[in-house]
Amino acid sequence: MSPRTDPWQVYRRLRRVLFGAALVGLGCFGVGFHLARTRHAVTPFYVGLAVWVGMIAWGAMPLGEFPCPRCGEPFSQRGRTRNLLSRRCLHCQLPKWANPES
Ligand SMILES: [Zn+2]
Repeated sequence: MSPRTDPWQVYRRLRRVLFGAALVGLGCFGVGFHLARTRHAVTPFYVGLAVWVGMIAWGAMPLGEFPCPRCGEPFSQRGRTRNLLSRRCLHCQLPKWANPES
């Protein structure tokens, strides 16, 4: 299987987007924490925290909607249940990173 046809390549990219968003959000939280300590104000802390949580939610949304390479249903979401750490498709039980044609 060539890298161009690997159906998990999109999943890896979305996972990197999530980690990148979480790191950027963590940086914002750190800046907010620093500002809160130096200015003796709580608002920058909560703004930084909200940005961090928001960035994680923003990065997790497309990953949760990633379609399973075998069945086409969302890989890590079934109904209202969402498990981004799932090792198998919640619909067809395809293991993560497995070849969908085998
Ligand atoms: Zn599936």
